[in-house]
Amino acid sequence: MLENLWYDQTKMYVNGTWVWPLHYRQLPLEDPSTGDQIGTIARGEAQDIDAAVAAARGALDGDWGRLTAAERGRILTRIGQLVQERTEDLAAIEASDVGKPLTQARADAIALARYMEFYGGAADKVMGETIPYLDGYTVFTLREPQGVTGHIIPWNYPMQIIGRSVGAALAMGNACVLKPAEEACLTALAFAALAEEAGLPKGALNVVPGLGEEAGAPLAAHPGVNHISFTGSVPVGRLVQKAAADNVVPVTLELGGKSPQVVFDDADLDAALPFLVGACIQNAGQTCSAASRVLIQRGVYDRLVARMADSYNGMVSAPALADANLGPLISAKQKAIVEGYLAKGKNLRVAGQGSVAADVPKGGHYVPATLFAEVPPDHPLAQEEIFGPVQVAIPFDTEDEAVAIANGTGFGLVASVWTENGARQMRMAKRLAAGQVFVNNYGAGGGVELPFGGVGLSGHGREKGFEALYGFSSLKTVATKYG
Ligand code: NAD
Repeated sequence: MLENLWYDQTKMYVNGTWVWPLHYRQLPLEDPSTGDQIGTIARGEAQDIDAAVAAARGALDGDWGRLTAAERGRILTRIGQLVQERTEDLAAIEASDVGKPLTQARADAIALARYMEFYGGAADKVMGETIPYLDGYTVFTLREPQGVTGHIIPWNYPMQIIGRSVGAALAMGNACVLKPAEEACLTALAFAALAEEAGLPKGALNVVPGLGEEAGAPLAAHPGVNHISFTGSVPVGRLVQKAAADNVVPVTLELGGKSPQVVFDDADLDAALPFLVGACIQNAGQTCSAASRVLIQRGVYDRLVARMADSYNGMVSAPALADANLGPLISAKQKAIVEGYLAKGKNLRVAGQGSVAADVPKGGHYVPATLFAEVPPDHPLAQEEIFGPVQVAIPFDTEDEAVAIANGTGFGLVASVWTENGARQMRMAKRLAAGQVFVNNYGAGGGVELPFGGVGLSGHGREKGFEALYGFSSLKTVATKYG
């Protein structure tokens, strides 16, 4: 069992109360750094989701629904302050639960606090419009909450994804049911406890841990849910969208990626280098927006790959609390997937490779960070999301060729272009198929204020920034005839 928890990790949080799942079932909780079981978590099921949705509906009809936008904002701001105060505790919990190095876990907690600060401040600034219409009419629009929003999230960045998804939905006045991932749900429960401490009315946020098929699927299909926000894999995203279609409710899908960074001959390589490597390696490559492909123009290709290789050769994978460059992967299953990709690359050139610390616990899920060079754009390593610390370097000659390769996977989440040529910067920003394009920088998962989401297989809908508030609202047009 973890120490210093301020909530009961074995229970669910429904209607402002810590409750057992209906059938009292539990799932094991593993520390990926050691492979040891460090406790259990609630195994919620369909009836538990029913109770959570009913609680959320009750909150909308009760205290939560009666608050003004400014009052909602104040509560969210207070939650952010509590998160900030508990940064070290939250980071320690996340490091044990997800296996991410403490520095990265701390950054996630700080980001969660910032999301709550942002959405707390934004809650009373969502406005409609007045629209010129026929003579004798006044027409205006209202942005209203959608109702009960369901949030199904993955294990890789629980705190950040709660911030951007639940934070925005609450700011708009919705009531939330959150189904965290079975691999990592502790900070979701911790967040609920802090929200209660901050004065969030009961039922406004409900957290039901459990397996995808047992708790996620009933939430996605629930007729009492008015919007489903799903972050996770493409196959499950498809299922969630189909389930939502039966209820004719909107879906936000934040799915995977194979994001490219495109480096031209004239780029500032010193500035680019840390972003090129870091944006793939952070969180041991288990980042939806990991820049897992680097496309490099031929004139600087050899020089840049050699410098990236140097970075890789110095990288160490070690337990989360050792706070090395990389922690372990989340599970034995994820490790097997990544090792499968390393095997598929056996005929490719390994330009650089890190190491696994000698004394890591045997049960932990460690792999070395690996950079492959001269990878053909149609190779599985250059096409498929690996979700591990594996990066491919691909050479190109012309801008057109770079665009074709960059846009040549089904995904389109994030992209970047590195060049000092201003006209090319603008052209590439338009030509790259992605929800976010960075010019001479890269923000894997970053940017609370910046709308984020995908095109193609990376999903649809936008979270983060002000745009998320529109996504979690329903627009009503009111036309009054006075003439
Ligand atoms: P996953 O799809 O297996 O699981 C995500 C969530 O869905 C979990 O809570 C899981 O319990 C739930 N789930 C599983 N089966 C379900 C079902 N049948 N119905 C409803 N819910 C179900 O994904 P994962 O392996 O946990 O996460 C990795 C994936 O998430 C990667 O593809 C990654 O790119 C993606 N991701 C995307 C973003 C983004 O913002 N675009 C962010 C983080 C992760």
